[in-house]
Amino acid sequence: MKAKVLTYGSPTLRKHAEDVSDFSSELVKNLFDTLAVEGGIGLAAPQIGVLQRVFIISTEPLADDDSSVESFKRVVINPEITEVSKEISMYNEGCLSIPELFEMVERPKSIRVRYFDENMNEICRQIDGIEARIFQHEYDHLEGILFVDRISPIRKAIIANKLKRLHRISKNAKRG
Ligand SMILES: [Zn+2]
Repeated sequence: MKAKVLTYGSPTLRKHAEDVSDFSSELVKNLFDTLAVEGGIGLAAPQIGVLQRVFIISTEPLADDDSSVESFKRVVINPEITEVSKEISMYNEGCLSIPELFEMVERPKSIRVRYFDENMNEICRQIDGIEARIFQHEYDHLEGILFVDRISPIRKAIIANKLKRLHRISKNAKRG
């Protein structure tokens, strides 16, 4: 079932998510249903109001636009980032919780990760490219961090009014 995506200003987006002990396939289904409708490439459980350490990745929309991008889906449960590269990359990031805002964000180019997949198999991998990018963005959601926290102070000052407006909309939506 498609869920409502919480937007900037919602306190839930700033909370630390808890480890999952009982895996819910319904949660994963809701995440994929929501992502399909919203048209994003990643979605974390806190974004639909569930404070659990689960996120999904789907590069399908990118692969549709660019045939050099491999199309894949991942379910990531209780992730850890165990190593980050010194090498940094830049990418123009967006977020379903911060609509219509895109900013260049610096992050390690490759990372070593450990997580459980949807069958609760433990996976340890080195990842890079778009997968490392999405993984780090979604991992941040589990820590209550948003990509706008990682942009330069100058850029943040430039988009301050947009963020304020989103904050207001989000607060009003809660009342209504
Ligand atoms: Zn996001």
